[in-house]
Amino acid sequence: MTNTILVLITCILSVSSPSLSYHNQDISLSTSRTLEKEPKAHEIHCSRERSRLAWRAINQYVMPFVERERYELPIQCRLHPINNIFRDHEAHKILVDLNEWRCGYCKKAFRGERFLDQHFDNRHYNLLNISHGKCMAELCGALHCDLVMETKPPKTKCNPAVVSRNRHMCEEIADSCFPLNQGQSATRLHDLFLLQFCDAHACSGGRKPFSRGGRKNTNLFYMAITIFALLLIPLFYVVVYLYQRDVRNGSQKLKRIVKQGAKPKLY
Ligand SMILES: [Zn+2]
Repeated sequence: MTNTILVLITCILSVSSPSLSYHNQDISLSTSRTLEKEPKAHEIHCSRERSRLAWRAINQYVMPFVERERYELPIQCRLHPINNIFRDHEAHKILVDLNEWRCGYCKKAFRGERFLDQHFDNRHYNLLNISHGKCMAELCGALHCDLVMETKPPKTKCNPAVVSRNRHMCEEIADSCFPLNQGQSATRLHDLFLLQFCDAHACSGGRKPFSRGGRKNTNLFYMAITIFALLLIPLFYVVVYLYQRDVRNGSQKLKRIVKQGAKPKLY
C-alpha cells in the first residue's frame, strides 16, 4: 500500500517538474533569440506595464458600472479604450498557454509576455495608435495603479503635493468622462468614480480606494489553484480505494490463517 502511494506521488512530481525547468530554459532561449534577431527598440515614452495596470483598474473598477448603466464614454474621456496608445498591440496578443504567447500580426511565438512586448516595440511600432492615442500610464496616479499590481510595492510616506495633484487629475477625469449635464446615468457614474478613486486621494481620513467593488478577478493564479484542486479529488479517492482494498485483503488473509490454525472438532 505505502509503495503504491509513493509511486503515485513520484508520477505527479515527474509530470510537473519538467514544465518548471522547461519554463526557465524558455526564458533564456527567448532572451537570446530576442537579443540576436530583434533590432533596437524604438523609443516610446510611455510604459506598457503601467498602461496595462491603468487599463486593469479601469476595466475592473469602472467598466462594470458603465456597462450596467449602458453609458457610452465620450471620445475625449481619457478612460475610453480608443485613447490607449497600445490598444491595437494589446488586442493582438494571443495567450496559447502559460508559457506561450503569440503575436497576432505575424504569428511568431514567445515564451513570455515581456518578450512579445519587445517584439511589438521592434517590429510593429508602426501600428501604435500615436496620432490619436494617449499614454494611459499617465493616469496611474489618479487610478491607484500600485494597488492593482499583483505584487504590492512598499508603503511610502504620504506626500500632500502628490496627493493633491492626483486628486485634481482624478476629478478632471470624472468631469470629462461623466459630465454632470449629460443625464442621470452620467451623474450616477460621476459620483461613483469619485467614490471609487478620487475620495481616496487624501493623506488622512480618505475613503478606501475601490470601495464600491468591481469585476470578479479570474486571473491565472486562481485558475491554476482550481485545476490543481480538481486533480486532487480523484487522487484522494484512488488512495482511499487502495487503502480499503489492502485492509480487506489483510483481514481475509487473517481469517484464512485463523481457519488453518484451528483444530478439527472431535465428536
Ligand atoms: Zn509580430
